[in-house]
Amino acid sequence: MATVAKKPAQVPTKPTAKSTDKPAKAPASNGRGGKMTYYFGQTRTDGRGDQKALLGGKGANLADMTSIGLPVPPGFTITTEVCDLYYKNGKQLPAGLMDDVRRAIGMLEKELGKKFGDRDNALLVSVRSGAAASMPGMMNTILNLGLNDDSVVGLAKATNNERFAYDAYRRLINMFCDVVMEVDHQHFEEAFDKIKAKYKAKEDTDVPAEGLKALCEAYKKVVRQQSGRDFPQEPLEQLELAIKAVFGSWNTPRAIRYRQVEGITGLLGTAVNVQSMAFGNMGDDCGTGVAFTRNPSTGENRFYGEFLINAQGEDVVAGIRTPLPVSEMPKWNKAIHDQLLKIKKTLEDHYRNVQDIEFTIERGKLFMLQTRNAKRTGPAAVKIACDMLREGLIDEKTAVRMIPAGDLTQLLLPSFDPASKKKAEVLATGLPASPGAAVGKLAFTAEEAVERTHAGERVLLVRKETSPEDIDGMHSAAGIVTSTGGMTSHAAVVARGWGRCCVAGAGAIHIDEKARKITVGGRTFTHKDTLSIDGSTGEVMAGEVATQHPKLSGDFTTVMGWADKYRTLKIRTNADTPEDAQRAREFGAEGIGLCRTEHMFFGEDRIQAMREMILAENVADREKALTRLLPFQRDDFAGILKAMKGLPVTIRLLDPPLHEFLPHDAKSQAEMAKSLGVSPAKVKVRVQQLHEMNPMLGHRGCRLAVTYPEILVMQVTAIVEATILCKKKNVDAQPEIMIPLVGTAAELALLRDLTEQTIANVIAAKKYVGALDIPIGTMIEIPRAALTSDAIAKSADFFSFGTNDLTQMTFGFSRDDVNTFLPDYIGKELLPKDPFQSLDVAGVGQLVEMSVQKGRSTKKGLKCGICGEHGGDPASIVFCHQTGLDYVSCSPFRVPIARLAAAQAALK
Ligand code: ADP
Ligand code: MG
Ligand code: MG
Repeated sequence: MATVAKKPAQVPTKPTAKSTDKPAKAPASNGRGGKMTYYFGQTRTDGRGDQKALLGGKGANLADMTSIGLPVPPGFTITTEVCDLYYKNGKQLPAGLMDDVRRAIGMLEKELGKKFGDRDNALLVSVRSGAAASMPGMMNTILNLGLNDDSVVGLAKATNNERFAYDAYRRLINMFCDVVMEVDHQHFEEAFDKIKAKYKAKEDTDVPAEGLKALCEAYKKVVRQQSGRDFPQEPLEQLELAIKAVFGSWNTPRAIRYRQVEGITGLLGTAVNVQSMAFGNMGDDCGTGVAFTRNPSTGENRFYGEFLINAQGEDVVAGIRTPLPVSEMPKWNKAIHDQLLKIKKTLEDHYRNVQDIEFTIERGKLFMLQTRNAKRTGPAAVKIACDMLREGLIDEKTAVRMIPAGDLTQLLLPSFDPASKKKAEVLATGLPASPGAAVGKLAFTAEEAVERTHAGERVLLVRKETSPEDIDGMHSAAGIVTSTGGMTSHAAVVARGWGRCCVAGAGAIHIDEKARKITVGGRTFTHKDTLSIDGSTGEVMAGEVATQHPKLSGDFTTVMGWADKYRTLKIRTNADTPEDAQRAREFGAEGIGLCRTEHMFFGEDRIQAMREMILAENVADREKALTRLLPFQRDDFAGILKAMKGLPVTIRLLDPPLHEFLPHDAKSQAEMAKSLGVSPAKVKVRVQQLHEMNPMLGHRGCRLAVTYPEILVMQVTAIVEATILCKKKNVDAQPEIMIPLVGTAAELALLRDLTEQTIANVIAAKKYVGALDIPIGTMIEIPRAALTSDAIAKSADFFSFGTNDLTQMTFGFSRDDVNTFLPDYIGKELLPKDPFQSLDVAGVGQLVEMSVQKGRSTKKGLKCGICGEHGGDPASIVFCHQTGLDYVSCSPFRVPIARLAAAQAALK
C-alpha cells in the first residue's frame, strides 16, 4: 500500500452536494455510465443478489437480505467498477465518488437519526472489503469508523457505557492504523498486554473502562511513534482513507497469491461496503458470531456455529477468546436462538443452498452482517445435495450442479485403518476441522512445508494458528494442525475448502517454532518425527498409522446415479494393470481409454530381454529378444482384457524412446553388460547412439515402428493372442489398437497395413475361427495430425486426443521443464491456468475441434476420445462435451469426478 498522506490525497471534486437531507440526486457517473454507490436500507435498496460482479458477494447479499426483510444494519456499497477505475487512474478515486459517498452517508444519517462526526450522537460505520469471489482475510475490516477523541466521550454518555465507548475506540485505532497506516499489529498487542497486566485481566473483557481509556491514549502514541502521524480525527478523512485502503488491499501480495491458488481471474476488483455499526460489545446482552445453516464438515442438517458474548467483529475468527457453540445459545438468549433458526430457514428457502452467516446481537437485538453460500467438504456437498432434494428445496438437476465435481476426491480419500488406529497412541484431540487422514513429519513454518514437500517429503504443518500468509504452506502440506482456533478459524475454513485434512485447536500441543519441536503430554517431537492426524475426529497420533481406501456412502451412489442419467459423454480410464482396471471399473469406468505398454517392460524378468532387443545389431537378434518378451505382453494384456471384460480396452503401442530402457551411469551399464554377456563398451556406445538432444521430439511413438516393424509385430501378436485366449475362455475381450504420435497419413497407412497383416497372421497361425474385429486407431497429439485429420481418418477407426503431447507441441512448452517459467505466466496472468492441467480451449482446443470435424468429414461418426491429463479436469470435460467427443479417459480415482463433471456439462 502506498504511504498515507497527512491529508487525504487531493481528489478532483465537483461542487460538493452539502445538504445531506435532500433526497439523493442523480449520482455521479463513473465513466462507465453506471452508479458508483448502491444503498441498502429501509429508505431504499438499490442492489440485487445477482449483482455480485458489480457489488461483490458481500454487498450483493447485504442488499438481498435487506430486500427479503432480514435485519441488516443499513449502509451502501461502492462498486467494483470504482476499484477498477481507481487503478486505471493511478490509484486516485474517480471524480465525484466522495460526493456520492457523502450523499449516501446523508441518507444513512436520516434513516438512523444519527450524524457522522457528531460529538453527541455519532453515526459509526464499518468499512468492509468484498469481491465477487470470497477471499477470506484479504483485508481486515475497520469497525467503529467515525469515532474520534470528541465523539467517544459523546458515545460513552449516550450509551451510559464508558467501557463500551473506549472499547470501540481502541478497536478503531488499532484496525484503522493497522490497515490504513500500516502500523504493525504487534505494537498494539504489546500495549494491550501491558494494560492487561496492570489490571490483572485475563481476557480483554476483564479490562475496566479506565484501562481502555488509557489504552486508547497508548494506542495513539504507538501510531505517532510508528508512523510519524496522528490518528486522523476527521471522520470523512477516515472514511476516504479507508476506502482507498480497501481498494489497495485488492493487490497486496497475499491477495494476489490467494487468487492464484484459487484460480480466481477476470474480476474488476473489490467492492467497498460502508455499513452502520451494530454493537456486539455493549455488555453481556450483546455478542457476535459466525454460523452455518448446516454442518459444513459432515453436511448434517443442524444449525452449526460459534458465538462470543460481549465481543465485536472478528474476535470469534481470530481466536481471542474461546467461543461457545451456538447450541449453547438458548441458555444465554433463547429468543435470539429461535430467531436464528427461523433465519436459517428463510435463507435456505431463499438461496436454496447452505449459508455461511455472520451476525451480531446489540442489546438483545439480532443483526445479520453477512451471508454467502457455505464452503463445504466433498462429503458434506454430497449429503447436502441429497438432503435438499429430499426436502424439496431443489430439483435433481440443481442437485447435480451443486456439487463441485473436483471435490468428490475427498470422498475417495483414504481414512485410517481401524485396526492400526486402535493401537495408535493418541497424543491430543483437537477439533475435527477438515476430514481425511494425513501422515507426515512436522514442519513448523509455511516456507518449511513448501520446501520439504518440494523435496519429496510428506509433512504436516503445525502452527499455533494459520493466517492468509500461510496458504502456500497449507496447500503443500499433507495435513494441518493448529493448537488454538475453532471450527471457523482460518485454518479450518481454508483446509475444508481444499479438502485438506486439518485438526484445529489441539490445545494440549505446545509448539516451539524456533526450536522446531512440539511438546505434548510430556513428550517431545521434532521436525524428524512423524505424526498421524485424523481430520474426522480431531485426533493427533504418534508415528505412522496405516491408512485404507474409502468406503462409499449411499448418497454417493445416488449422486453417481444422477450423473449417469444426465451425462452423454462416456467415461473411460487410463490404466495399465489389472488392479487399476478393476478399481476404475468399480468407480464406474466404461472402458480403458489408454493402456500404456511401456511400463510392462520394466519388471526384472523383462528388462533383460528388452535391453537385448535394443542392443541387437540385426533383425534376427532383435526378433529373438522380442520372442522372449511376447509371452509377458500376452499375459499382461490377457489380465487387463479379463478385468475389463465386455468393455473396450485401447492399447497403445510402444511410445517412449528406447534409451529410456537403458541405464545411464557407468556402474549400471557395466552390470548390464555382464548380465547380457557383452562388453561394457558396447553398451556405452549404444547408449551414446540413442542419445537425443530433444527426446520428446525424437525417435519415439510410431517412428519406432517405422524403423523396427518387428516391435509392432510382437505387440500386435501379443494383443491378438491374448484376445483369442480370452475368447476361448468365454471372456468377452474388446481390445483396440492405438498407434501413437502419428503426424502424417502415410505413416498411419503403412502401420495400419502391418497391423492388419499381423492380425491375419495370428488368426491363421492359431487357426481361430470366429469374429475378431479389432479396431485400429491413432492418437492425435501432433499439431500436423490435427490439421490433416481428414486424410489420417482414412486409416483410423478412432481418434484419441493425447492432449499432454498436443499441448506441449502446440505451445512449444516442454512438459518436463515448464515449471521454470510457467509460474510467472500464471502470476502475470499471461495464461489463466496451467494448460497441462486444464485444456487451453482457445488454442489446443481449436485443434481438437478441427480434428474431430475433419476426421468425421472422412468417416461419419468416427469415435473420438481424449486420454490426456485433461480427461479428469472438470473444465476440460465441459469442452470435450461441447466438442462432441464420445468419451474422456482419466486416472481411476478421477472417474467419479469425470462422471459428475460430464453430467454438469450436459446440463449447462
Ligand atoms: P471478512 O470478509 O474478513 O469476513 P467482514 O467485512 O465480514 O470481513 O467483517 C468481519 C466482521 O466484522 C463481521 O463478521 C462482523 O462481525 C464485523 N462487522 C463488520 N461490519 C459490521 C457492522 N456494521 N456492525 C457490526 N459488526 C460488523
Ligand atoms: Mg465476513
Ligand atoms: Mg503422447
